[in-house]
Amino acid sequence: MEQTKCLIIGSGPAGYTAGIYASRADLHPILIEGMTPGGQLTITTEVENFPGYPKGMSGPAIMDDIREQSVRCGTDIRSGLVTEVDFSQRPFRCVVDDTDVYMADTVIIATGATARWLGLESEKTYRGFGVSACATCDGNFFRGRDVAVVGGGDTALEEATYLAKLCNKVYLVHRRDEFRASKAMQQRVFDTPNIEVVWNSVPTEIVGEKRGFVKAVTGLAVHNRVENTDATLPVDGVFVAIGHQPVTDFLGGQIELDAQGYIVTKPDSTATSVEGVFAAGDVQDPHFRQAITAAASGCKAAIEAERFLLAQ
Ligand code: NDP
Repeated sequence: MEQTKCLIIGSGPAGYTAGIYASRADLHPILIEGMTPGGQLTITTEVENFPGYPKGMSGPAIMDDIREQSVRCGTDIRSGLVTEVDFSQRPFRCVVDDTDVYMADTVIIATGATARWLGLESEKTYRGFGVSACATCDGNFFRGRDVAVVGGGDTALEEATYLAKLCNKVYLVHRRDEFRASKAMQQRVFDTPNIEVVWNSVPTEIVGEKRGFVKAVTGLAVHNRVENTDATLPVDGVFVAIGHQPVTDFLGGQIELDAQGYIVTKPDSTATSVEGVFAAGDVQDPHFRQAITAAASGCKAAIEAERFLLAQ
């Protein structure tokens, strides 16, 4: 069993930044990195809007920099997954990988969010066999081929433009007749000749072939909601980019969540429904969800944890 003044759960921009501030406040934070060290930025490509990188920078490189800075300031970063928490009394009890117990005076939850899926049965069948939620991870398998990207937000448009460089053709399937992505991303898509936008369309099935253990996607069936027509796009890969789900299951209902599963924090604060437990980054932010806003809330959480301990 280990004790700490501040346990940080999660390692995206929020977690690492919380580590920087908590270290500088002499809280000697321990940070548990989770399943995807570095968080969602590690599966993105070029990031143009993170301050300090005037020429843009790859997501993984930015996260490497923030991690290094966090370690240099004193954050004790450990690999592992928090599998259970007990917030019923202080110090809070957190279990990592079902075995290692940490007793923490304060906890900062910065677990972020994971990809949301369409919920089709065939999507499950072909996940890893042509269905993916990460173009930078899997795009290379589809070099020179035709693929579809589903979604109308920044992620979908970014994935489509990334894939357009590798693939022969990219269908961008969106359920409405306008994108919610930023205007700059939209322009990039409209300027890319091998992206075809399929408007007003919802995927109804991933079409594929199964031969024993061998499975391959051959198409994406879509329904046009305005024209009430059905079509199958002939693609070898389908990239689902329809948003994210906050990672809160491990909390076991001990922290107040909103209807979408985001942690509820007090106005202008990172304080959660449990005194001494703070939340930062995408796990508590259904509105902005930017790396820079996540980093900023990690900073706030560490400052609030420090003030909480001082007031005790
Ligand atoms: P968003 O929530 O912004 O977009 C999700 C998209 O998926 C929407 O277009 C939505 O449609 C569509 N969608 C949702 N559910 C379904 C469904 N069941 N079937 C079909 N389509 C569906 O998520 P993103 O991941 O794109 O972005 C999250 C945040 O991260 C945003 O704030 C974004 O700005 C930010 N981001 C910023 C980047 C950057 O600045 N470089 C890069 C990537 C993300 P509808 O529009 O109809 O609701």
